Amino acid sequence: MIRNWVHVLAWLAIFGATTLLGRWLFEQDLIDPDGAFRYRHARPWIADRKMVRDADGLLQLFEALAFGDGAQTLRRFDKPLRVFIGGPRAAGHETTIMRALERVATLTELDVARVQSAAEANLEMLLVDHGQLRRAIASSRGEADPGRDPPLFASGLARVSPLPGGRIFGAVIAIEVEGSYVGRHVEAVLHHELLHALGFPGHPHPSFPSALAQKRPRFAVRFTETDEIMIRTLYDPRLPLGRDARTTRDAAWPVISELVAVKLARTD
Ligand SMILES: [Zn+2]
Repeated sequence: MIRNWVHVLAWLAIFGATTLLGRWLFEQDLIDPDGAFRYRHARPWIADRKMVRDADGLLQLFEALAFGDGAQTLRRFDKPLRVFIGGPRAAGHETTIMRALERVATLTELDVARVQSAAEANLEMLLVDHGQLRRAIASSRGEADPGRDPPLFASGLARVSPLPGGRIFGAVIAIEVEGSYVGRHVEAVLHHELLHALGFPGHPHPSFPSALAQKRPRFAVRFTETDEIMIRTLYDPRLPLGRDARTTRDAAWPVISELVAVKLARTD
């Protein structure tokens, strides 16, 4: 009995020492300091903590996300979100979805309300089976045949309809719920596709601490602090809609700097 407790205390001591050593290495900036790939080898939470202190890195990431996938202008919703949750696999997922959307409401300062039909909605969240998702992906690419293999991380889809001025008037998110794609996997896909729907068409390098980084579902079960800064920046009224990357960068810099200052004040 006593020997068991000695073991427990020894493990706790080792665990505590390793944690303190990790923290010291982080503070000393000895973990992976090599420029653009500075987040590559860091553990997820360390990458996130480093990133929210790095205004330059955040600005680069913002540009990659907001102007990724060929987007020429800044886009976002500018009306309250009217959310419809549907699809044959929706049962049991409403609470998770509404919890994520409450966070979206806080970060964007948009009102979010649930509506009972797709016709009233400007944000449709559909939980579907494997075949339905594949067909949706094929039709969004203008292909008649859904093909044999789904593309990487394609257990979700976000189709966003921006107007030429950058205002998003509607978005449809489809999430596969089938087989092993259940539970936390659904949450991961939900946060990834929500970021697309809110106005981020791009994907960052997989090393970045974002729900949009592919092959990192561990990040994606919630918005990271980095993601939250991205959303707050995109929805800050100081960033005019429909502008190009260059104009947006100038407007985004003071916003991101302020958000970083808040993080620094809290963690130092
Ligand atoms: Zn994606």
